[in-house]
Amino acid sequence: MKPTAKIWHNGNMIDWHDAKIHVLSHAISYGSAVFEGVRCYETKTGPKVFRLNEHVRRIFDSAKIYRMDMSAFTPDQIAQAMLDLVRVNELKSCYFRPIALRGYGQLGVNGQGNPIEVYIACWEWGKYLGEDAITQGVDVCISSWNRMAPNTLPALAKSAGNYNNSQLIKMEALANGYSEGIALDVNGYISEGSGENIFVVRDGVIYTPAIATSVLPGITRDSIVKLAQHMGIPLIEGGVPREMLYVADEIFFTGTAVEVTPVRSVDKITIGSGSRGPVTEKLQSKFFGIVNGTEEDIFGWLTAV
Ligand code: PMP
Repeated sequence: MKPTAKIWHNGNMIDWHDAKIHVLSHAISYGSAVFEGVRCYETKTGPKVFRLNEHVRRIFDSAKIYRMDMSAFTPDQIAQAMLDLVRVNELKSCYFRPIALRGYGQLGVNGQGNPIEVYIACWEWGKYLGEDAITQGVDVCISSWNRMAPNTLPALAKSAGNYNNSQLIKMEALANGYSEGIALDVNGYISEGSGENIFVVRDGVIYTPAIATSVLPGITRDSIVKLAQHMGIPLIEGGVPREMLYVADEIFFTGTAVEVTPVRSVDKITIGSGSRGPVTEKLQSKFFGIVNGTEEDIFGWLTAV
């Protein structure tokens, strides 16, 4: 990670190296933090943040689920802080990590007496699964770990604790020579990757696991749903059985980090022709066209810095 000059903390710009918390902060022991990952893209007309308001809304939603009192902050203030950071750090493009955590004070399971600390960092970041992944696709496996059961750790909240499950999925996949693992939900239906949503294409129809199958409601996922609708490609949200992946024509991941990345094999079974398929390519091309500013921002997804 390449440090930038400033990190935003509770309304102030502080030096990157001063953004430290006490080891007895509640979030360290109990995982009581909610966060976001957001991208800012370089365009001919300056840096633009992708779906800024949706990301800000999701961190407030995640906090609400965990009874974290965010009343000291407003969504507009958080959004503005992110725009300010790009300017202050003189970045053309970046990845943001806004995080709200229960800080230092008492130490017990109930952290409601501890202060809420909000930090926003940003730095330059490239392609998550490597530069070739976007065109060549990645090799993945079904994880031996399931995603969280409903009514255990809420999947709709992007909370730090959920990423213990993600880490198990990711580390196992890497240990076995895959780029990523796909978890099933507790009923055996496809849920999502350790840090991305999944889409399957068969006979020109796109399928994606429903919100009720322990998935994070991805903002890139929502963007693909809207793009498919706009482009007249039928899309069904529902239960996706594991074996549907093996007989798919195409599979792709979506996420702020992976953007739109094709999957070329699952459990060493080749998907379709073993390279990026035509539906994936069409959606990728539209997606990258919009975020890079070479196509019209028809949905108003970009916010200028
Ligand atoms: N699922 C998980 C578990 C994730 O961590 C992410 C990344 N935030 C996603 C899906 C994709 O969400 P988004 O498109 O909003 O980045």
